[in-house]
Amino acid sequence: MRVFLETFGCQMNELDSELVRGRLASLGYRFVDDPDAAEIVLFNTCAVRDHAEQKVRSRVGIVGSQKRNGREVILGLLGCMAEREGLAILQKHPQVDLLCGPGELDRLPTLLENLRRTTAATRGERVALAGNRSRRTATLTAAEDELESLDLSRSFDPEGSSRPWSAYVRITRGCNKFCTYCVVPATRGAEVHRPPDAIVEECRRLVDRGVIEITLLGQTVNHYRYTHGTALTLDGREAPQVGPGLGAFRKAPAAGERVTTFAMLLARIHEEVPGLERLRFVTSYPRDLGDDVFDVLAACPRICRYLHMPVQSGSDRILKAMNRGYTVAEYLETVDRAIERLPDVSIAGDVIVGFPTETDEDFAATERLLRRVPFKNNFIFKYSPRPGTTAFDRLPDDVPDEVKRYRNNRLLALQAEVSRDVHAREVGRTLPVLFDRVGSIPLERRSDMTAAGSGGGVELRVAGRRTADDSMPRAEGEASRQWQALGRTAGDLIVAVDVEDEIAAEAMRGRILEVEVTAAEALLLRGRRPMPAIAPIG
Ligand code: SAM
Ligand code: SF4
Repeated sequence: MRVFLETFGCQMNELDSELVRGRLASLGYRFVDDPDAAEIVLFNTCAVRDHAEQKVRSRVGIVGSQKRNGREVILGLLGCMAEREGLAILQKHPQVDLLCGPGELDRLPTLLENLRRTTAATRGERVALAGNRSRRTATLTAAEDELESLDLSRSFDPEGSSRPWSAYVRITRGCNKFCTYCVVPATRGAEVHRPPDAIVEECRRLVDRGVIEITLLGQTVNHYRYTHGTALTLDGREAPQVGPGLGAFRKAPAAGERVTTFAMLLARIHEEVPGLERLRFVTSYPRDLGDDVFDVLAACPRICRYLHMPVQSGSDRILKAMNRGYTVAEYLETVDRAIERLPDVSIAGDVIVGFPTETDEDFAATERLLRRVPFKNNFIFKYSPRPGTTAFDRLPDDVPDEVKRYRNNRLLALQAEVSRDVHAREVGRTLPVLFDRVGSIPLERRSDMTAAGSGGGVELRVAGRRTADDSMPRAEGEASRQWQALGRTAGDLIVAVDVEDEIAAEAMRGRILEVEVTAAEALLLRGRRPMPAIAPIG
């Protein structure tokens, strides 16, 4: 059976899709790039903002009209939207045959098999599993946690990946934070921590297959904490366990308790997987980033000094309404401590504008915060009311959309200034860059780039396929193009280097190479490869 799988949303979803793909491929399913050539179309969905759901609805609409015109195809929705909307989706969209929430993905092959058999016998049968097993089973036991088997049986396929040198590894699933705007605790369930041995082993296997960069994933990744000796699988291995309460991060382990903290896990991977060149982690919950984590980053050169620590707002009143659990002063304390211990640390964030009741003063406080913290970038979102969240139930969405848009644009402009300043500090330095993309730009536009940044007409290629970010005509002569290799520093700053041709740019993909930074823009650094030293004659 041919399967088309499209992923929406975050890195968690990208990893889930990779695991699903591996599991189905091992069962004989074949993946295709063209949805029209598939007998099974799967959308791995995101429910964090309405915008993400709208995109999926439009794809579902297209498949629906094809089905009405006689196309025989199984349409499945996986992930958070399937979990959030549940059976209501089946009522609204009769073309959907299968639903599978993120906590049930290990059961997807069985669902598909059942569906194939039943549809062959009785047309119109549908299957759904969106019951958020991990939130239901607060006393999770190894035997019940079959979802772990999906991560454990991972068959990372370098051939099938567009960036085979880079991989995600999940260390925790779910979230216990319950920010009032966020669907994740409801869709992904309670925080569950994987045993450290399983994580280290997975990293080792990935490196054996050629991976040089691993990003550890968790919604609040630094809340990772594994208490040993509490739960074993039937074959005697340590089992995943439900995370401790949020207070656990402020206390030392009880007497006799053996714990692997997040800092200890980072140090273990660094020590036990020496072939790993870059270790990253996202996303950090700012309040609980302790000195132990900074000390490990300072001591371990292959762990990237990059912190993605979303602040969400610069107003204490709004942070409280969001249930973020920290004040602006506490956030700044973490930032200052990080910079003091790791002077070259790179910090990124997320901000929501237009949260209910946000006034001009609250927004001005967020602008002040953006000027105060050297954020290399911020992901800025307009508040999107999500059914099932506390904010949706209790707080009217009272900031008009044009105000949200205005605040969003102002923050984008402000962040561009801040990013340019942060980037400017790198000019003159030589930095190791992991190259991952190939880009090109018409030579006559090359001179505009300084003003336009990387969005000014660069056409990117990933794994040989073009992903144009503007409407440049394709037939343009290749000779009139400036080819570029693009990559990222350890601090996650984007770097572009001009190269002579496409072959030279392709040859740099997947390699960490030194780059002299020559110029800074809001969105990227520009640089050149250092000239090889020439031995004096005679
Ligand atoms: N767990 C991470 C954290 O708390 O920092 C972030 C995970 S969330 C999926 C990614 C980002 O989406 C959040 O940091 C927040 O800025 C944004 N987000 C979540 N819910 C949102 C909503 N209802 N409206 C707008 N943005 C939202
Ligand atoms: Fe959502 Fe907050 Fe959990 Fe992040 S920490 S996933 S924003 S509830």
